[in-house]
Order: sequence, then structure tokens, then C-alpha cells
Amino acid sequence: MGLDVAWAERWVRRTADAVAGAKDELTELDRQIGDGDHGENLNRGFQAVLAKLDEPGAPERADVGDVLMLVATTLMSKVGGASGPLYGTAFLRAAKRSARPSIDESGVVVLLDAALEGVTSRGKAQVGEKTMVDALAPAVEAATAAADAGSDPVEVLRAAADAADAGATGTIPLVATKGRASYLGERSAGHEDPGARSTALLLRAALDAALD
Ligand code: ADP
Ligand code: MG
Ligand code: MG
Repeated sequence: MGLDVAWAERWVRRTADAVAGAKDELTELDRQIGDGDHGENLNRGFQAVLAKLDEPGAPERADVGDVLMLVATTLMSKVGGASGPLYGTAFLRAAKRSARPSIDESGVVVLLDAALEGVTSRGKAQVGEKTMVDALAPAVEAATAAADAGSDPVEVLRAAADAADAGATGTIPLVATKGRASYLGERSAGHEDPGARSTALLLRAALDAALD
């Protein structure tokens, strides 16, 4: 079974729901080590994505990549701050590699790998710098291992979501060396990175959309 355009649209809707529900939590995390706007930023972005998705007369979306491209362009224009261009580039790269009506388990790996490549090419962060990369990189690794072991797309997404979740939790003791949190130096330790948490939410939403 592949993941089709309807899945991609459900992913977007579930992400918008999850971000709306976690808005205050994400903002509170960002208040601890940043400027307290991550929840607002992402919620504004995904509400705008929802509006675009439901726009009457929108061109037909034939490929998974068409949905991801809509997310990319909307996040880039509506989300300020660091996370807008970072997530925008992630979805842009993922869209370009998903120009098909549906994706299989290796397509999920390609999508996630392209997203990570987008974030790192834009933000230059490596694993351990207390950013969204600390959720996304282990997700790519776990997804790759699951696909190599013969898992179906849903199980590949589950591996990615679980690894991202653990990766986000794992940012708590880290000292930030990229982004606003790096201004705090050692004082950034002891708080979860908001972008790593939102990445985990996004990947959980991708799994939930596949289980619908
Ligand atoms: P801003 O920091 O501009 O207010 P947000 O609050 O929306 O933007 O997003 C902050 C998140 O962006 C951080 O928690 C971190 O995960 C991520 N981030 C910041 N800089 C980088 C970077 N260079 N590479 C990867 N992720 C980054
Ligand atoms: Mg912020
Ligand atoms: Mg900001």
C-alpha cells in the first residue's frame, strides 16, 4: 500500500490540528530558550496552509509533491523567524523528490532525507546543536533502517515518528549552538528545543494520517 495525495492532505490537516493544540506548549518552550513565538509562528503558517488547501478553484493536486509544495510556499511566506525558511526549505526539497501520485516505503525515506537536507543546507546545524535537526536526523536514520528491513510505509513512518519524539526529548540536556537559544549558552541546557518538538509533532501527524 502506498501513501497517496489524500494521505498528504490528511497529513497537512492533522499537522494543523496538532500545531493548534500544541501552540501554547511550543510557545512556552520557546519562551524558555528563545523569544516565545514558535507556537504562534507555526500555527499562523499551518492555518494559512489549511486555507490554501481548501481554496475553491485550486488546481488539481495529482502528486504527493503538489501538496508538499503548497505547504512549502505558504510556510515561506507566512512564518517569520528561523523556522519559516527552515520548514519551507524542508517541504520544498521533499516536494521536489515526491513528484508521484503515491510513495512507497523508500519514497518515505527519500521525502524525509530531502527534508533533512533542506534544513541542514539552509541552517547549517548538525546533530547535537539543539535544533530541529536533532529530531529529523534520527527520524531519517530510523526510517532508513525500517525500510531496509522490509517494513511497509506505515511502519517506516512509525519508526520515524518514534525516533523524532525521542530525539526531541534528547535535546533537553543539550547546550544550543545554533539559533536564538545559542545566545543563552550553557543556560539553554535543561529545556527542550521547540523546533525539535514541532518536528516530532509533524512526523507523528504523518503517521496518524496514514492510519486514518
Ligand atoms: P525564531 O527563533 O526566529 O523566533 P522560531 O521560534 O519559529 O524562530 O523557531 C525556533 C526553532 O528553529 C528552534 O527551536 C530550532 O529548532 C530551529 N532553528 C533555529 N536555528 C536553526 C538552524 N540554524 N538550523 C536548524 N534549526 C534551527
Ligand atoms: Mg522563536
Ligand atoms: Mg522569533
